[in-house]
Amino acid sequence: MKLLKERIRREGNVKPGNVLKVDMFLNHQIDVELMNEIGKEFKRLFGDKKPTKILTIEASGIAIACITAQYFNVPVVFAKKAQSINLDGDSYTTKIESFTHKKVYDVIVSKKYLSRDDRILIVDDFLANGCALLGLIDIVKSAGASLEGIGIVIEKGFQSGGKAIRDMGIDLKSLAIIESMNAETGEVVFSDED
Ligand code: 5GP
Repeated sequence: MKLLKERIRREGNVKPGNVLKVDMFLNHQIDVELMNEIGKEFKRLFGDKKPTKILTIEASGIAIACITAQYFNVPVVFAKKAQSINLDGDSYTTKIESFTHKKVYDVIVSKKYLSRDDRILIVDDFLANGCALLGLIDIVKSAGASLEGIGIVIEKGFQSGGKAIRDMGIDLKSLAIIESMNAETGEVVFSDED
């Protein structure tokens, strides 16, 4: 997605430790016009999958999921990072290691909001090693729902998550795939320049 890549090039900030900060338009301040274009692009890419719900994880995924959901006319469910799991059997639970904070979270989704009849589109802001997505995939499986696809805004293609998830046969599409980035020069190279 050309518009997105331009914004990353212009406003992205490459930090040591393979972290890209995009606080100007995605992770702190949110550019709603750009979000609308992202939502439209996910609709173009996954419209034929006819999802019944969009699943994401708090916090950064929520805005992306809500704007995308307006183009699909379906609800959003977001997985919550729990302090302690209430093992009452009312929730699907999994563990996710945060890439940016290096912390393991218990993550939950209430059984009320996902069922075996659901067709799920997962969306999230970043894909790095795939831990967040593997957790969400686990939750979809626990619910017996069908996973129709995964839409990612920014994939860091030099990290392992994208390959692992595509190797599972999942329809994963990313709007910008970064081939390499350099914290010293600030240079970002995309794998599919357009
Ligand atoms: P993964 O679980 O794939 O290793 O990492 C994905 C999650 O970590 C995303 O939900 C995102 O919040 C965060 N993340 C991973 N890499 C980056 C990055 O370079 N920049 C930002 N802002 N978040 C990232």
